[in-house]
Amino acid sequence: MKKVFLTRKIPQEPLQELQKICDLEFNTLDRNLTQDEIIRQAKDCEVLFCLLSDKIDKRVIDALPKLKGIVNYAVGYNNIDIEYATIKNIAVTNTPGVLTETTADLAWALIFAIARRVVEADKFTRSGKFVGWAPELLLGGDIYGKTLGIVGAGRIGKAVAKRASGFGMKILYTSRSSRMSEVNSERVELDFLLENSDFISLHVPLTNETRHLIAKREFELMKSTAYLINTARGAVINEFDLLNALRTKQIAGAGLDVYEAEPKLIEGLTELSNVVLLPHVGSGTLETRSAMGFICLKNIQAILDGKLPPNLVNIGIKI
Ligand code: NAP
Repeated sequence: MKKVFLTRKIPQEPLQELQKICDLEFNTLDRNLTQDEIIRQAKDCEVLFCLLSDKIDKRVIDALPKLKGIVNYAVGYNNIDIEYATIKNIAVTNTPGVLTETTADLAWALIFAIARRVVEADKFTRSGKFVGWAPELLLGGDIYGKTLGIVGAGRIGKAVAKRASGFGMKILYTSRSSRMSEVNSERVELDFLLENSDFISLHVPLTNETRHLIAKREFELMKSTAYLINTARGAVINEFDLLNALRTKQIAGAGLDVYEAEPKLIEGLTELSNVVLLPHVGSGTLETRSAMGFICLKNIQAILDGKLPPNLVNIGIKI
């Protein structure tokens, strides 16, 4: 059977199915592998099944001579040198669709958590500080009737917008070509969205164009009562400028699932109370992580059979 290397264990059901179709080796450690470890352990594999945190660059690709496919256990694929994989005629696949609703749910979890100070309030209550109802205790910001700005009207952006209808929200969005016809919304320029939104939720992929899309100038445009939510990729925001905006109360708060240099956080972020910090768990439910595994399984099967995989991202390669 053909060799596939998986860089970290995934949920049991898709893993078992995968073991039936190939000679599967996987990292059994309770940590991610370094690039050198991936190179060593994946040496003879035809398919590298990897995580969004594995940097699959020219060095890794060149070190795996039998490689036919890179199957990413994520919808975003900014961790892979797509251009080089394409030159080498290596298929790259992702997991679109199956994580859309789960990630949209988490964006909303961040909206609630930061606007209503859920994490702060939980800590407060646990620490025994709740000594009675008080008119000005832990006041937050309203969600109902406010304006939600969606940056990137793709699958997840649309799913986040759909959920807002129950909250009587006005929806603004930016995108280059996609439209949000399913929900009552208005397509606007980014500056207008930043100036007029109470909640700004980021849903663009990380590309050269979107790196540091939100930086000092953009924070200056935002309302001082605005909340910024990021479930896209950390580097879409200039984290240094975000830290300043939060410290100086230029904006009211932020809800973050992703970070520029994750898993490292920028120094000072954890000291702030006007930010909710999650460890990149946007798609983190058992159902969704299994579904992502099954999508990867289909892509692996196709690559091993010499067919075009269903979720090919580097269109144009020859199989
Ligand atoms: P998608 O359907 O491809 O949506 C991305 C949207 O961004 C597209 O509609 C695209 O539309 C728009 N876009 C791209 N460049 C833009 C720009 N410069 N300005 C404005 N809009 C732009 O992808 P998705 O499935 O919704 O996922 C979005 C991203 O979420 C992924 O790439 C991934 O990085 C992130 N994600 C994170 C988690 C997590 O665990 N936190 C989970 C899933 C996904 P146009 O091309 O028309 O502009």
